[in-house]
Amino acid sequence: MPIVAEILIPLALDTPYSYVVPAGLELAAGDVVQVPLGPREIVGVVWGLAETAGGSNLRPVTGRLPYPPLSEPLRSLVDWIARYTLAPKGSALAMVLRLPDEAAAAETVRVAVRITDKPPSRPTPARTKVLAVAVDGALRGKSALAKEAGVSLSVVDGLIDDGVLETVAVEPEPVAPPPDPDSPRTPLSPAQAEAVAALIEPFPWPPSLSADRAEPAETDLRPVLLEGVTGSGKTEVYFEAVAACIRAGRQALILMPEIALTAQFLDRFAARFGVRPAAWHSGIGGKRRERLRAAVAEGEALVVVGARSALFLPFASLGLIVVDEEHETAYKQEDGVHYHARDMAVVRGRLEGCPVVLTSATPAIETRVNAARGRYRHVRLPERFGGRRLPDIAAIDMRLDQPERGRFLSPPLVSAVKHTLERGEQALLFLNRRGYAPLTLCRACGHRYQCKNCSTWLVEHRFRRALVCHQCGYAERRPEACTECGTFDNLTACGPGVERIAEEAAALFPDRRVVVLSSDFPGGAERLRQELDAVAAGECDVVIGTQLVAKGHNFPFLTLVGVLDADIGLTSGDPRAAERTFQLLQQVTGRAGRGEKPGRALVQTYQPDHPVIAALLSGDAERFYAEEIEAREAAGLPPFGRLAALIVSASEREVAEAHGQALARAAEPPEGVMVLGPAEAPLALVRGRYRFRLLVKTERNVDLQGYLRAWIARGPKVRGNVRVAIDVDPQSF
Ligand code: ADP
Ligand code: ZN
Repeated sequence: MPIVAEILIPLALDTPYSYVVPAGLELAAGDVVQVPLGPREIVGVVWGLAETAGGSNLRPVTGRLPYPPLSEPLRSLVDWIARYTLAPKGSALAMVLRLPDEAAAAETVRVAVRITDKPPSRPTPARTKVLAVAVDGALRGKSALAKEAGVSLSVVDGLIDDGVLETVAVEPEPVAPPPDPDSPRTPLSPAQAEAVAALIEPFPWPPSLSADRAEPAETDLRPVLLEGVTGSGKTEVYFEAVAACIRAGRQALILMPEIALTAQFLDRFAARFGVRPAAWHSGIGGKRRERLRAAVAEGEALVVVGARSALFLPFASLGLIVVDEEHETAYKQEDGVHYHARDMAVVRGRLEGCPVVLTSATPAIETRVNAARGRYRHVRLPERFGGRRLPDIAAIDMRLDQPERGRFLSPPLVSAVKHTLERGEQALLFLNRRGYAPLTLCRACGHRYQCKNCSTWLVEHRFRRALVCHQCGYAERRPEACTECGTFDNLTACGPGVERIAEEAAALFPDRRVVVLSSDFPGGAERLRQELDAVAAGECDVVIGTQLVAKGHNFPFLTLVGVLDADIGLTSGDPRAAERTFQLLQQVTGRAGRGEKPGRALVQTYQPDHPVIAALLSGDAERFYAEEIEAREAAGLPPFGRLAALIVSASEREVAEAHGQALARAAEPPEGVMVLGPAEAPLALVRGRYRFRLLVKTERNVDLQGYLRAWIARGPKVRGNVRVAIDVDPQSF
């Protein structure tokens, strides 16, 4: 009987396609194959095989391709992603399947030349120049040597033929040199040692700490929440778990929000393990990326530190996943396949049978509830390392201590910065707003400058002399005269952005080095990483930053944090606003006093009595969590209920709205399901597309995905340029 193969193709397709396996071709699940699709040939992965009587009408598989097969856990991950997020299964496969680029990966040896002790037979001036360079005995490529000597390549070739120079094969520098788990380290504090023991004892591979025990501890594969205030040494603690993992011969993956992947972190890893870890982020490209992927697949890269896409690497023998700063919103991907990298890490860990450690000083409510219910283990580090105190946090009541007109720094904050600088320490002024001013208006006619494609105000960026949309990137020159009424010099910047605060700080402290750190930093991510390292080295006095500086960084000279507008996030209608604001403020104030000297934080607020601000000031995180969890439970919000959002968009408003309404009519929510909307999405117009949103709220035990699938199936057909995006567990709503 013929064998039929189900082939999943990495395109937006919901199911695998069937092909017949030609006689003589042996296939197994996971094999990478080539198949015909319409008029072309395309790559796919064998998802299933079955012997059947039919299948004579099917096209045959063209052949197997010489790539490593997709492992069973990765195939299960693809199935899981598609089932959970409702993304097409082929789109989920596209995140995992990356075919090695032969040419790039093949770069294993390179040829270099070096000088021998034979004198040249004909010492021409050109030859003499080459020898003058080569005399140091260093290895150089042929063309590098010719270039350095300022001669043509043929001169170098002539010297090689003569035996004056010899060629040598050089191994490229390794992409993933092995970390040494037993390189000497500074001792752990007793609290840290206890946390390490609690953390790794139940892990499935033999941890060294329990080697001398008669009875090995019982294996426990639940994910672990490693919670501790900023500076308590969570990193040091999970490094020991990484060490135990690689001692057992398994690979470890450390996930981080992309921007936290600084040289500082890599150096810290090197201080513990002797070498820098292999880093996987958007900045590494080409050959290096290919070689690293190959090293991961061969089990040679023992530790990978990476941004969320590292989760899909084909590890040969994964033994541990750490999700650093698990509460970070950057872990949620909100275009293409909508997924949360933390939740996905937990799933991958389960499929691979390896432990997962989530670390945070301010865990997500979901994670806290999972820990409280025993679904996750909970390991805590109560204090800062070395007896360092958490910063004292005080409020500045802006109703009483107003800044001067047109200024944003209150007198008490200005004087605190002044004293900090006088002591030779650093101050951070935190404002979560990029650019110069969030709104520009004309004083003569009242016109407000708005994006042509989005329902957002244009943000003035003074350094770029432009008005910019933060949603779609649209930018226009800041006009001299109002584009509405033509009046000159009447445009006013309303409200502050970080650039405006930098201007104010520069005026107040003219002889100090002031730096603005936001995602607009000129020169891109790499330059920004360098600048963060410079700040950590104490090379500037006043840092003005957005949430980008709040996270994960260690600035040892920083002793004062000023939060400029603590209430900024609290006014939105988003039920997660309180949690987000609390996490962000806790993180940013925690930047102070991580070095030798104690730190303090001053928080400018109009609502010092708001529960979030009050919890922050009193340092009573437990109370905040208790109240917030209770409120979520009462409202049936996650994790006590489940949520999904359907965003319907189209280039005409009426079309989007009509489709949304037709969807709502087909909703037929059963018991335990509530469908709200369509309503204009919080961003009603993005990139020229009008957006309407339907929210689905269900009780905890409802099969949300099953309901969504049935609903979409009986709902209206998607026509024209209408698009429906499904976001399960939306992060803002
Ligand atoms: P967290 O990740 O909880 O914010 P870190 O692991 O970054 O904390 O530790 C905070 C600071 O304390 C870092 O500068 C770190 O080098 C230092 N530190 C923590 N534990 C130790 C230790 N056992 N020995 C020496 N320094 C430590
Ligand atoms: Zn826009």
